[in-house]
Amino acid sequence: MTMEYEDGYGQAQSPKYDCLLFDLDDTLYPLSSGIALHCRENIQAYMAEKLGIEKSKVPEMCALLYKHYGTTMAGLRAIGYEFDYDDFHSFVHGRLPYEMLKPDPVLRHLLLSLPIRKMIFTNGDRIHAAKVLSRLGLEDCFEGVICFETLNPLEDSSSRGKDAKTEIFDILGHLSEKDTGVEFPKTPVLCKPSEYAMVEALKIGKINPQRTIFFDDSIRNIQSGKRIGLHTVLVGTHIRVKGADHALESIHNIREALPELWEEAEKVEETRYQGKVAIETSVTA
Ligand SMILES: [Mg+2]
Repeated sequence: MTMEYEDGYGQAQSPKYDCLLFDLDDTLYPLSSGIALHCRENIQAYMAEKLGIEKSKVPEMCALLYKHYGTTMAGLRAIGYEFDYDDFHSFVHGRLPYEMLKPDPVLRHLLLSLPIRKMIFTNGDRIHAAKVLSRLGLEDCFEGVICFETLNPLEDSSSRGKDAKTEIFDILGHLSEKDTGVEFPKTPVLCKPSEYAMVEALKIGKINPQRTIFFDDSIRNIQSGKRIGLHTVLVGTHIRVKGADHALESIHNIREALPELWEEAEKVEETRYQGKVAIETSVTA
């Protein structure tokens, strides 16, 4: 059986794309699910309760860090807060109302009908990704998950806390002074939309950007993706922005927007079939 398939592939023209790379949150399920809102509330609670940030400053700071660093967590680490990543993730994601996410048989069918490698690339942690995929009924639709732990493995906690008096960079203060000359500190966390982090993720996943379609609901992630050579699909809006090759209101529209994926899949399937017939014929001859 395997031989026949390989022969079939050998004769086929190699398809244009060989990987589909999907963001998770607000991409594989809609923003309207409400999960994102709860997530933000939990992050803000963490900032106030665990890091002792003045409550009145939390919403603005949270938004600013998210905007500048890709995730609030990456921003908090950049400006000098010390905390355990697992502690943060279990606080922020551990209490999410995952029951708000429902199985999505339509998306499941779409994904399974494409014989192309499919991967997840999320800034979230592994447990969160597994829970979301399981709630959506998509846990067996992807070859692998590139997540927070993939890009930020085994943090050396011994190196932290040594400089006990880490000063906190006053990011709101710098902003209010309109002090454009000040450079914001760098974050030790690797995450989207950092192009460096994204290139690392592709290397780990053995993903060739030129032959990959990247789906994400974040404009910044899409624009970074475009800069590193990915084909890009902005999800959650029909308005195509600079850097997005396509824009989809919902991931459910993937077939209408990218019919060539299914056409190529059919071609591969046909060649497989022809290859099989040819072999069978030669065997019986
Ligand atoms: Mg997202």
